[in-house]
Amino acid sequence: MYKIISYIIKPENPNYPDNSKTEFTSICKIKNGDFCNTTKIQLYTHNDTHVDAPFHFNINGTKISEIEPSDFFYNNIVTLNMNSKIGKEISLFDVGDSIKKDTDMLLIYSGISSLWDNSPDKFVMKKNQPWLSKDLAEYLIKNTNLRAIGVDFMCVDNLDDISNDKGPVHDILLGLNELSKSIYIYEDVNTKLIINDKINRIYAFPMLLYGLDGSPVTMVVEIL
Ligand SMILES: [Zn+2]
Repeated sequence: MYKIISYIIKPENPNYPDNSKTEFTSICKIKNGDFCNTTKIQLYTHNDTHVDAPFHFNINGTKISEIEPSDFFYNNIVTLNMNSKIGKEISLFDVGDSIKKDTDMLLIYSGISSLWDNSPDKFVMKKNQPWLSKDLAEYLIKNTNLRAIGVDFMCVDNLDDISNDKGPVHDILLGLNELSKSIYIYEDVNTKLIINDKINRIYAFPMLLYGLDGSPVTMVVEIL
């Protein structure tokens, strides 16, 4: 069985109010007498379910068009159901020793994606966003073999830091201090769909946008 844990891209999806909006502009419309349907799309690289490439915060980091074929697949996934982390920090203590040597992706359900469908206004409120602690980011980059982390909130950093033009958690995970290593960051992932599942594999397909910092991504979970 398979589940899709990326959101379907729609202009009305909840995103940061200050992000550039998604737009679909019809170019040809059969309804209007044209011979086919075609559409121009405007996408922001960090709206909806998307992946941050190391280049997002690290000028020397991998760009999304340089992703290795093996990084489209994850085989040893740890899922953490935290449920009660709306507006709170997720720390090393919360993750404990759940990550094993062969774990290649960590998926977090913080509880905030439960607001996505029915309370989108609350979902986008800055005060409701969880974030990862710097200690946790340091641990993940130094002590694990993770290739990716996926979260159900829109930003792994505390938004107070982002407001001050800082992103220490992005810096650490995207390899700014650890030039030989980085971890792909999947944000705004609909992890509530798979909290009770046993996962065999995850497929994550970004668009190969030349030289860019990230991309909307389609994520498919194969369930045992
Ligand atoms: Zn992002």
